[in-house]
Amino acid sequence: MNIIFGPINSRRFGTSLGIDLSPFSKQCNFDCLYCELAPMATVEAQTQVVEVAEIINELKNHLNTRIDVITLTANGEPTLYPHLSELIDQIDKIKNSTQTLILTNSAALVDKKVFETLLQLDQVKLSLDAISSDIFKKIDRPHESIKIEEVVQRVQEFSKVYKGKLFIEILFVHGLNDTKEEVTKLNKVLMTLNSTRIDLGTIDRPPAYPVMGISYKELFDISLMFDNSLPIHIASRIHAEPNNAYYSNEDILNTLDKRPLTMEDINLLFDEESKSRLNILIKEEQIVKRVVGNLEFLIPHANVKRKRIK
Ligand code: SF4
Repeated sequence: MNIIFGPINSRRFGTSLGIDLSPFSKQCNFDCLYCELAPMATVEAQTQVVEVAEIINELKNHLNTRIDVITLTANGEPTLYPHLSELIDQIDKIKNSTQTLILTNSAALVDKKVFETLLQLDQVKLSLDAISSDIFKKIDRPHESIKIEEVVQRVQEFSKVYKGKLFIEILFVHGLNDTKEEVTKLNKVLMTLNSTRIDLGTIDRPPAYPVMGISYKELFDISLMFDNSLPIHIASRIHAEPNNAYYSNEDILNTLDKRPLTMEDINLLFDEESKSRLNILIKEEQIVKRVVGNLEFLIPHANVKRKRIK
């Protein structure tokens, strides 16, 4: 059985060795419109469960290469795995300095046991696609027992007590959560969280249902709607079209003040002349580099100590 996969080079998380906690079939409490897996009825618990000993045995055979993170994921939702706490304990015994990471849709945080279990991990990525109940239900098509109000509350509580690196991911679907109204609601919640980084993405691979993503430029425009103290990162750029726009020095400083960008973003947004002038600003140290959770952002020197405006 293929439980371990990779390592893969993840731009966001480094070199990652994946553990599939649902190797038999999709088992998920959501049935997202944008899922890369086939549509399937939601479940509240796994019915096909792989043994902890089997996972650990396979993992031991793959720990001989240098990796940054061991990523708990699944064909479905990894927090539905019933032996998660025991599995993390066992991984901790053999991982040395490698970090542990889980990619979760956040819903199981309402379960006290899962909440406590996720505190054991070095890094946690929580998805949060919408705050409005109707939009959440349309995009993520959750199991009927899941209420977004409760999930948001538990995400906020988790953020208060979690000591590791907390990543938030929002995936935008055209015509659903990409409105100013929904982004305003997301912004309000994000301002209450202690996140290391917030990744904005869209549909990059064939989705389960006939829905569309948004363009890189639309993602960039949405990123500007969030408060500039938030550690926002535009994560999707697979279908990005170069924008090649002209930025004066003042535009460059204002844009990076409002939204710190990576060099990859710059390469998509700026024309060649603007990039040359950006390099001069870097040499003059008017613009400096700042690493946030594995990625390097450019930010005006004057705003390095940016404070969140509550
Ligand atoms: S939570 Fe993940 S696995 Fe589950 S339906 Fe959504 S995208 Fe697919």
